[in-house]
Amino acid sequence: MRKLPRVLVVEDEPAIAELIAVNLRHNGFAPTVVFDSEAAQREVDAVLPDVILLDWMLPGESGVQLARRWRQHDRIKTVPIIMLTARTEESDKVQGLDAGADDYVTKPFSTQELLARIRAVLRRRAPEIVNDTVQVGPLSLDAATYRVTHDGRELKVGPTEFKLLHYLMKHPERVHTRGALLDRIWGDHVFIEERTVDVHVKRLRESLGSAGAMIETVRGAGYRLTAQALPTKTKTDAQTTA
Ligand code: CA
Repeated sequence: MRKLPRVLVVEDEPAIAELIAVNLRHNGFAPTVVFDSEAAQREVDAVLPDVILLDWMLPGESGVQLARRWRQHDRIKTVPIIMLTARTEESDKVQGLDAGADDYVTKPFSTQELLARIRAVLRRRAPEIVNDTVQVGPLSLDAATYRVTHDGRELKVGPTEFKLLHYLMKHPERVHTRGALLDRIWGDHVFIEERTVDVHVKRLRESLGSAGAMIETVRGAGYRLTAQALPTKTKTDAQTTA
């Protein structure tokens, strides 16, 4: 199994640190929590994290000072830093970003927003770490957290249908024969009738609701996942949802 992205959380308020750590764990990350800059430095020296969440106000050396120092360090300077702070002044944000932070989250923040920002900095800095998320049109699948969403709404998908969808989403706009899908999803040593594929495709379409139309039956050939199958939005729709 692929290793989980490591997140170093430098936050001196235990309640906030714990809340962040719990949410990170539930969303496929491996968090380590430290409460001050000295412990943060020890942690970074021992194991380089994939991303750092850094509180602005820390006892002793502040988050901004720490960020500025780390940005001079060859080993640490490529690790993305997201500053966490209660400060909302524009000049403070500029100071945080000037210190070398990649992004900035103001407390109180929603955990969904924080997670989205972590994924965004990881995608920019180290796309290979977050490649567990596949997006095709409005459908998004996260293999690490076992989630499928359609336009942000979570869908319930069974285990075999999940594997099938994962494969189709990784290879969209291509026709896959039933035999090829059997090999890929069920393994080539298993003897199952090709009709089984049809059964699971039917279930998958049902689970996907309106996005089920994205899985096309190609007569005499097999199945194809395509974003093209969705009705295109009218100009007015596109404008209002943009
Ligand atoms: Ca603090």
